[in-house]
Amino acid sequence: MKAPKAIIVGGGIMGLATAWALAREGCRVEVFEQGELPNTLGSSFDEHRLIRHPYGEHIGYAQLIDDAFAAWDLLWGELGERFYAPTGTLALSGNGARWAERSAASLAAIGRPMTEIAVADLPRRFPLLKTGGVERAFWIETGGVLFAQNIVNALARRLAARPDISLHAHTPVRTVDLDRACIVTETGAVHDADVMVVAAGAWVTRLLPPLASRLTPSRQVVAYFDLPVAARDAWNKGPMIIEQTGDVGLYLVPPRQGRGLKIGDHAFSRTGDPTGAREASAAELEPLLARGRSLLQGFEHWRIERLKVCFYTVTGDERFIVEKQGNAGWVMSPCSGHGFKFGALMGLELARTIVEGRDPLAHARWAAGLEGDMIAPSPALSPARERGV
Ligand SMILES: Cc1cc2nc3c(=O)[nH]c(=O)nc-3n(C[C@H](O)[C@H](O)[C@H](O)COP(=O)(O)OP(=O)(O)OC[C@H]3O[C@@H](n4cnc5c(N)ncnc54)[C@H](O)[C@@H]3O)c2cc1C
Repeated sequence: MKAPKAIIVGGGIMGLATAWALAREGCRVEVFEQGELPNTLGSSFDEHRLIRHPYGEHIGYAQLIDDAFAAWDLLWGELGERFYAPTGTLALSGNGARWAERSAASLAAIGRPMTEIAVADLPRRFPLLKTGGVERAFWIETGGVLFAQNIVNALARRLAARPDISLHAHTPVRTVDLDRACIVTETGAVHDADVMVVAAGAWVTRLLPPLASRLTPSRQVVAYFDLPVAARDAWNKGPMIIEQTGDVGLYLVPPRQGRGLKIGDHAFSRTGDPTGAREASAAELEPLLARGRSLLQGFEHWRIERLKVCFYTVTGDERFIVEKQGNAGWVMSPCSGHGFKFGALMGLELARTIVEGRDPLAHARWAAGLEGDMIAPSPALSPARERGV
């Protein structure tokens, strides 16, 4: 089969990684991005995003993490730099929430070792924490911080230098025709190709309104902190924390390589408009701060350095939508707040499905975390998979 020409709408991690991967497969690619490239308002633009094996009952996604690491390794080779720092992962749950239990069961089922920690031992092992409400805890050596905005910046620069990829920044797409792989930009320019991938993040329902019944834009607030010096030194060696001991579900990104310490929550707001104002209100932040006060030692001495408001799309079951639509189109919406870690992998595998003509339905199930290893990963990923990264 002759390698197709591809159009990609959206220059976040999904669009850029897919452009890179399609070019690796021999395609010519055009990327259309409404803002600058990368767009600082996109989901992919923040200091960091986490990658971790614990995944609640979503065993299919836990199973894909090794492939995700292998895909990042391949990308580091392309970029000439590794934008990742390992931290290990501390998983906590309590107050009736059973996230850590479900994660532990999934990890046991896929043969991934982790260390259970008795709650009574937590203060000794992790003196940075309070343990109120925690009923179950475990530690796993794997997991860490992907330096997200450095990744999309470096990737955009790398792609701009390739002759087989054209990047069109500040070029909003007004309409897409998924049958003919044809777009019309805001200025009325028409572009067509053999295949099109719509990776428009939280804006996707503006282009494809029928998706609104399945994808809900969700406004999320994260907080960066200035810490007292001693706390900062301690957290520089501290773990990533993912916890569910109540409604909020806090995650903490420890500072690494000069980046900030950040906390956020996994409670979807399911409200807001990505084109709207981005100031955070005290009310939106309060549940997160309340959880910080009850979980983190000395939190009352931490000073908020800055807040960031970001949008992503949420599905009902938190599974990704990567689906063929129309004769020549793909909708690529791996999000629900956990997609970045799979960005390189999603791009590589979608490019293979497009170029090799693999079954689109099988691909959609794989991306939804429903099939584990059903789609054989790219042979290029094999060396890293065998190392068991
Ligand atoms: C606060 C927060 C925390 C998160 N934490 C994690 C985490 O720890 N780990 C993890 O794995 N994931 C995490 N995620 C999720 C992850 O960031 C997203 O899944 C991922 O970045 C989505 O990438 P994307 O390319 O689909 O979307 P985006 O990065 O939003 O890119 C979409 C792009 O499409 C462009 N676009 C939209 N419409 C048009 C149009 N009409 N014409 C042209 N261009 C258009 C937009 O401008 C944008 O640049 C988090 C997300 C948020 C917001």
